[in-house]
Amino acid sequence: MSDACIFCKIVAGTIPAKLLYEDEQVVAFADIAPQAPVHVLVIPRRHLASLDGLTEADRPLVGHLLERVAHVARLLGVAEAGYRTIINTHHDGGQEVYHIHVHILAGKRIGPMVVR
Ligand code: 5GP
Ligand code: ZN
Repeated sequence: MSDACIFCKIVAGTIPAKLLYEDEQVVAFADIAPQAPVHVLVIPRRHLASLDGLTEADRPLVGHLLERVAHVARLLGVAEAGYRTIINTHHDGGQEVYHIHVHILAGKRIGPMVVR
């Protein structure tokens, strides 16, 4: 755990979040500032800072994380209609929290991806 990391604190339960799913490796919770009717973050319990920096050793965890993203989308009832998944990386990618997370955005038509 990284003491400074807000998502590690959510995993530890020391700051509150609306938990939607958890298992031994990942946690899913509602984004505090939702950008769509459904906006959920899925994270590994283990502190991994960013997509950039993953190594071969992280493959099993990252594979599990992505499979659980699909599972959480089904649990939320949005899988059939569809959803957008996003992983932001570093400054130019818009990453603000340095604990790797997959955004799930759903509940309306998200529309074509626009880069502004
Ligand atoms: P990023 O820009 O790093 O990809 O996304 C970080 C996301 O974390 C943002 O959508 C932001 O709203 C969310 N977030 C930041 N702090 C908190 C928090 O304390 N609790 C929750 N639930 N979400 C947070
Ligand atoms: Zn962390």
